[in-house]
Amino acid sequence: MLNVLTVDVEDYFSVETFRHIIRYEDWDRYAIRVDIGLRRILDLLERHNVTATFFVLGWMADRRPDVVRDIHRRGHEIACHGYRHQMIHAQSRGEFREDIHRAKAALEDLISEPVVGYRAPTFSITQRTLWALSILAEEGYRYDSSIYPIVHDRYGIPAHTRVPHWIDLPAGRRILELPLATGVVAGRRIPFGGGGYLRIYPLWLTMWLLRRLNGGEGRPAVIYVHPWELDPEQPRQPVALLGRFRNYYNLERTHDRLEVLLRGFRFGSVRELVRQTAISERISLLEGVDPAPGDREIAARPPVV
Ligand SMILES: [Zn+2]
Repeated sequence: MLNVLTVDVEDYFSVETFRHIIRYEDWDRYAIRVDIGLRRILDLLERHNVTATFFVLGWMADRRPDVVRDIHRRGHEIACHGYRHQMIHAQSRGEFREDIHRAKAALEDLISEPVVGYRAPTFSITQRTLWALSILAEEGYRYDSSIYPIVHDRYGIPAHTRVPHWIDLPAGRRILELPLATGVVAGRRIPFGGGGYLRIYPLWLTMWLLRRLNGGEGRPAVIYVHPWELDPEQPRQPVALLGRFRNYYNLERTHDRLEVLLRGFRFGSVRELVRQTAISERISLLEGVDPAPGDREIAARPPVV
């Protein structure tokens, strides 16, 4: 069973938790440290002969083109994490289109091949921003990995399909969706494997959930990690307890935990998963008969799973 390993390439000052104290306009005042965690991730992947999908921020691509070229030269897949790392609901549809267009162009300029994958900042494709999927497809993206099918204060579509699936969109378009990994325990969905969940849960729990998803359900897991999660010496920001916990807990353990997962399970990029696996599930997100663009919510049919 091939699981998908993804890396969201952004720096410690771009994280949503710090948005109220670090403005986008001030990012250039902070020292870029992305190389530190990225180097550790790239070395790990090389040691275990694994390729991954890297969702790179357009802002970072413009500041550090060498970083993007290096990831690509090592055989990994380059995908897009937006330009400014702004949650989708904070953008108008026009602003969103401009953001993903600008980031895609910046990345494609560097690697001279099409960038077809997208992950929203802070998994911000939710019920009220499903309209973003149509804009992604119109702008040339062929897959998205932004939907967290869980209950969470910042993100999530709690009843959404948990497995990779095609989404039928208006105007005959479609997009492949790769939801982030979840397990079902005592009838409740729980997220696992990525980011804070990898750092906060005991490792045995992550391994158990991954074995169950792969073996019991026969499904791949999509997990994620950030370079700043492998940089325990990063400058600490003065935020409240919850933010400190989510962002800083167990940073010194991320590297070794990721290595245990790479040793015990098979991982690859989204591109590899799509090449090896037939994805037959599909759902529909058709906007109905009203062709006028507006801010009306897109009605979703009940999910398949
Ligand atoms: Zn991010």
